[in-house]
Amino acid sequence: MYGIPNMKLDKPQVVQRRLEVLEAEGVTFVCNTEVGKDIAAETLLNDFDAVVLCTGATKPRDLPIEGRDLKGIHFAMEFLTENTRALLDQHYRDRFLSAAGKDVVIIGGGDTGTDCVGTSIRHGCANVTQLEIMPQPPETRSAGNPWPEWPKVYKWTMARKKRPPCLGPIPVRT
Ligand SMILES: Cc1cc2nc3c(=O)[nH]c(=O)nc-3n(C[C@H](O)[C@H](O)[C@H](O)COP(=O)(O)OP(=O)(O)OC[C@H]3O[C@@H](n4cnc5c(N)ncnc54)[C@H](O)[C@@H]3O)c2cc1C
Repeated sequence: MYGIPNMKLDKPQVVQRRLEVLEAEGVTFVCNTEVGKDIAAETLLNDFDAVVLCTGATKPRDLPIEGRDLKGIHFAMEFLTENTRALLDQHYRDRFLSAAGKDVVIIGGGDTGTDCVGTSIRHGCANVTQLEIMPQPPETRSAGNPWPEWPKVYKWTMARKKRPPCLGPIPVRT
């Protein structure tokens, strides 16, 4: 609901509708309840026959390098969650990290990095540079990646407005 941007996943049409289908099928959702804080694990073990742990992995992997503590460096989920909350809830409309007018650098090229690129562009950033540790994937499937495997190819996503050139490795300044 909050992590993945609305541009990629429509919350009222897709997420809310699916929630309602699950509720109609008999699932009870209890929000604002942190297991281990608001309700003890022992209570769950006593009250239910089975407990399934599916609490996700929102702990970010930090990059402890020189300058990490400078202002203006944020974890993706802080940026994305605040942005989506501001769009979904008018009480948070002015409380989000804005990339408007900024020179933005995104470190990481996966789904999360892509969402940060798309969000920064939609905020109206001055420009955005995305750094990715891996080489650019091929345009088409390689011989070692046949169907029905997940295609490891260069993908053109909703994040960017036009296809960017591949610049190759950035020279290190000394
Ligand atoms: C920015 C971003 C973009 C992504 N884009 C894509 C994409 O385009 N395509 C794709 O396939 N995947 C994408 N993913 C990955 C996908 O979102 C995750 O793989 C998926 O959400 C994992 O599902 P999950 O149910 O394991 O965990 P989560 O979706 O993280 O769900 C865990 C839930 O448990 C709750 N929780 C945690 N601790 C407690 C507790 N103590 N008590 C009660 N509740 C608790 C959390 O609040 C959360 O709601 C993206 C992920 C991110 C972060």
